[in-house]
Amino acid sequence: MEYSHFSPVALCLTLLAGTATTQTSQKADSNTTQESKSGLDLTAIDKSANPCGSFYQYACGTWIKSHPIPADESSWGRFNELLQRNQEILRGILEDSAKNQNRSPLDQKIGGFYQSCMNEPLIEQRGTTPLHAELQRISQIGNQDELLNEVARLHERQVGVFFRFAPSPDPKNASMTIADIDQGGLGLPERDFYLRTDPKSEEIRKKYVEHVAKMFELIGVSPADAQKKAANVMSIETDLAKASLDVTTRRDPQRLVHEMSTEKLAALSPHFNFTRFFVQVNAPQFTTLNVDVPGFVKTFNSLIASRNMGDLRDYLTWHFVSASARLLSKTFVEENFEFYGKTLTGVTELKPRWKRCVSAVDDELGEALGRKYVEQTFGEQGKRRTVDLVREIEKEMSDDLQSLSWMSPETKKQALVKLAAVANKIGYPEKWRDYSSVEIDSKDYFGNWYRANEFESKRERDKIGKPVDRAEWEMTPPTVNAYYDPTENNINFPAGILQPPFYSNAAADAVNYGAIGVVIGHELTHGFDDQGRKFDADGNLKDWWQASDEQHFNKLADCFVKEYGSFEAAPGVHQNGQLTLGENTADNGGIRLAYMALMDALAKKQESPSAKVDGYTQSQQFFLGFAQMWCSNMRPEYARLRAQTDPHSLPEFRVTGVVKNMPEFGHAFGCKTGDQMYVATGQGCRVW
Ligand SMILES: [Zn+2]
Repeated sequence: MEYSHFSPVALCLTLLAGTATTQTSQKADSNTTQESKSGLDLTAIDKSANPCGSFYQYACGTWIKSHPIPADESSWGRFNELLQRNQEILRGILEDSAKNQNRSPLDQKIGGFYQSCMNEPLIEQRGTTPLHAELQRISQIGNQDELLNEVARLHERQVGVFFRFAPSPDPKNASMTIADIDQGGLGLPERDFYLRTDPKSEEIRKKYVEHVAKMFELIGVSPADAQKKAANVMSIETDLAKASLDVTTRRDPQRLVHEMSTEKLAALSPHFNFTRFFVQVNAPQFTTLNVDVPGFVKTFNSLIASRNMGDLRDYLTWHFVSASARLLSKTFVEENFEFYGKTLTGVTELKPRWKRCVSAVDDELGEALGRKYVEQTFGEQGKRRTVDLVREIEKEMSDDLQSLSWMSPETKKQALVKLAAVANKIGYPEKWRDYSSVEIDSKDYFGNWYRANEFESKRERDKIGKPVDRAEWEMTPPTVNAYYDPTENNINFPAGILQPPFYSNAAADAVNYGAIGVVIGHELTHGFDDQGRKFDADGNLKDWWQASDEQHFNKLADCFVKEYGSFEAAPGVHQNGQLTLGENTADNGGIRLAYMALMDALAKKQESPSAKVDGYTQSQQFFLGFAQMWCSNMRPEYARLRAQTDPHSLPEFRVTGVVKNMPEFGHAFGCKTGDQMYVATGQGCRVW
């Protein structure tokens, strides 16, 4: 996966290591909306609930009750129903390509890859053989030079040991790509997983160490030695974690900018010769780079110097085996699932093989598979309508910016320049990635995976020193998600999201504005959230704000920090208001823009907001269309993990948190003072 230290901000959920993509064995529920004229899922609504008491329960209550989480899922929502439909389409494409690999080079790549993944008997028969050569290499590391060679080799194969090395837009000149070194090398999801002292966190750590030990046993280490090795791994990772920044701190882009010469980096790390590392990974030559967390590099350096070579070999062995687990026989796949699936997310059953293989092709050859997906599914009508909606919503944002009372004319001027510069990408890339140099053997899943990784590493490294290609996509076309990229100042909507419940040609305008319209508004607002606002129209990290406007912004944003921080995500774990601030700002700003756009569209057509379809006024349809994107059930383990790592609030709070700030909502549903969802005009949190 592509990585840059200023990650683009996505709409929905972050996928965590080992959880793969979200699919299910449940039948696609595509008929539920057939009987509604509006496009709303009327069967989802809980009529016994009071919309002014809990709007989420009202909009989604019956859906929630009738859609339990499948055993192989960590959560189940209307998102997942769409994902499931996509997955079935991708399966059809891949089975067809696997049967017709001689038809075209593209069929050979994706069909051969899929076939190699589906060939379980052959994978079983090979056992641990695919690991042997690499394990042998690791076992022979005797000094720091040899250690460096192996770290470089693993990095080329995208096994993330010790740190991250990747290209990134230059923070001061975002049109150019520079090299970037960042913290990394952990097996648990995030820094604080190593440091929290509550019983649940202790338990997760204990299970992690047990899991690491079991993986060592699976490659033939005795139980007693496996325990020692697992303890070594935990001890090294804990040192790395202590030197890392936590997810919340990392949201401040300024904290991650330390441009330096390669000589300065060498002085920071005398025991690990980064200059030689860059040569070993075949990076283009460069003399300056960005180091996100200099203190981390220092700690890594002293760790290399102070730990004995045996401990460091254990660490590399663990990461290589863990990264390879899903490519191996059942015992590895199941042990990997035991921790990363069951313990971390609460899922009880592994997904069927075909789903895992579809995800694998999407991960490794995403634009080859995506190309076929687009040919089969993407409608030009959907694209045109989305382009129109983007324009309408941009206009609303422009009007809104100009009318803000808290912002000075100077900052407004800059904000409008930035808004006008936002580029839109809809559907799929103009130019498809060329995978012709990746050798795919339909009988070698393990080899295919690592060859595809090497291809991707090379593709990424070659960007260093070159202009940023803003036409490139961070998500594959079937992805049900969208993102704003702060360093490129563009919004991106993959083909996968332009379908119900987000968008439908047949749905009422009010419902489309409430769903895809809100998504568009959300992504646009990201350019002006607590993180995005620090980048200028060209994507450079540059302060274009008057000091007094910044103070106003922070004061208004603080209202969201408090509001969302009050929501309890899992027993004893609240949403982190600071971590989720950008997403909450985007949710609240986005819905406002989409609502204003709908009102203008209705006025233009001389339609009344109170005209009813399916028994709901236009405004009510809008809010229901919005809320029903988020109908979902979630396992408590997963809710806890999300609250601790994910910048997005949980689905329920994405609905409740937003409507509680909107007098327009109370007005639409006739809510009154004292109602949970009621807020008086001029009250409630609002930035944009
Ligand atoms: Zn977002």
